[in-house]
Amino acid sequence: MTIDYTDFYIGGRWASPATNSIIPVISPSTEERIGSVPDGAQADIDAAVAAARAAFDDPTGWAHWDGKRRAEALATFADKLAERGEETAARVSTQNGMPISLARQFESGFPALLLQYYGTMVADQEDEIRPGMLGGSTVITRSPIGVVGAIVPWNVPQAITFLKIAPALAAGCTVVLKPAPETVLDAFLMAEAALAAGLPPGVLNVVPGGRELGAYLVAHPSIDKVSFTGSTGAGRAIARTCGELLRPVTLELGGKSAAVVLDDANLADNIESFFSATLLNNGQICWLCTRVLAPASRYDEVVDTVTDLAKNITVGDPLSAATQMGPLVTARQRDRVEGYIAAGRSDGGRVTAGGARAGDRGWFVEPTVFADVAPDHTIAKEEIFGPVLSVIPYTTEDEAVAIANGSDYGLGGTVWTADPERGARFAHRIASGTVGINGYANDPTAPFGGIKNSGMGRELGPEGLSGYQNIKSIYLDVR
Ligand code: NAD
Repeated sequence: MTIDYTDFYIGGRWASPATNSIIPVISPSTEERIGSVPDGAQADIDAAVAAARAAFDDPTGWAHWDGKRRAEALATFADKLAERGEETAARVSTQNGMPISLARQFESGFPALLLQYYGTMVADQEDEIRPGMLGGSTVITRSPIGVVGAIVPWNVPQAITFLKIAPALAAGCTVVLKPAPETVLDAFLMAEAALAAGLPPGVLNVVPGGRELGAYLVAHPSIDKVSFTGSTGAGRAIARTCGELLRPVTLELGGKSAAVVLDDANLADNIESFFSATLLNNGQICWLCTRVLAPASRYDEVVDTVTDLAKNITVGDPLSAATQMGPLVTARQRDRVEGYIAAGRSDGGRVTAGGARAGDRGWFVEPTVFADVAPDHTIAKEEIFGPVLSVIPYTTEDEAVAIANGSDYGLGGTVWTADPERGARFAHRIASGTVGINGYANDPTAPFGGIKNSGMGRELGPEGLSGYQNIKSIYLDVR
């Protein structure tokens, strides 16, 4: 049985699409069609933006509710999502190959947590009165930035959606969401939850489509802010448009992070955390540490540990609870990853695990480890977005810092050591938006984002809310 939708969630109801065009959804495990949704056209984006604009401009509407009232509405939304949690996890796994155990955590658990976190934050947020240096004082108020265009990728679709819409809605913004065409069935289930929660019409609108539709949304005259997660190339194009329009934009882009193994580390004892930091979600997460930097004095031992890890990963049906790694999202992505494996070989890398396709159907690639990789090899420089690790030797800590920082990206990073204080000192030297010591996890309270080609702006934490607020100073007692 396939899951097929015929209408978009626009203006608080199911609305007919402007065209008959559809987006088919294909399972990456079975290569079979599992559903479809209508494909958004420019007229559908126009309708969604108009609904979001009207909701935002309503003088007694969402933007003008007090924080407590919005927090209550978001708590109801979280409840309705929780009722659909298992179905959401299953839909994501079936669409993009994410192991179901991870989908339960990231895709059904995390969104509700974010709604609660940001709801509580705005329920408690008050104007700040700041004493001035010139005799008076200033009231600092925060107001919602306006209508937000949110564009998300397929790899962790619900968690990334809520990194944007939880703070945006809590702040009082209204949203037009454009999901990626590969993962749409979860977005429509989320829309069902929004409808069941009784979110006011136009506060949230969902129109899926491809990159042209995304570009149309970014440039739309009635959008006040763009929030994008995806590739660095698309991010640059969006930044150009937003630069010309002087439109605020948050960009969460690619990565090529380093896992620096210090000479006192006991990697084998931390192997589950190391797996999560390097190969989670079939290697399809932006912050994964796909460059493993190993001390020359223990190089062979680190290569052996990482090789054993890769060889023992359970690859298979993403809906099975035992599966640690599923297929890549599309045949195109599989081909891209195979191209990088070929480049790794021709640059002189030595394959110690994997290196080939797995299974006879579906877009599976074996967890792959390359030893003898130099920092200038293609696989050490470019984001692969698949289960391919490069183990690179270093001799001194200074050299490890230089290799870790010699990347065009700066999103994640990890340090592995028996001495957490030493790890923290090392973490300060890594040029990146986030670094973990002996593990990596995005906590809702911790700002997340990148530097260099990994983007600009921060999501999560109070900083993630600020991205959806205008700050106004009202000067008191001015003479
Ligand atoms: P992508 O950039 O091709 O697509 C992402 C989304 O943007 C899709 O919805 C797509 O339709 C849309 N899009 C593409 N080009 C656009 C344009 N010019 N204007 C407007 N919208 C456009 O990325 P992808 O291959 O689907 O996703 C993988 C990439 O996302 C990787 O580079 C990964 O590192 C990155 N990513 C980053 C983060 C982060 O938080 N930094 C998180 C997840 C994924």
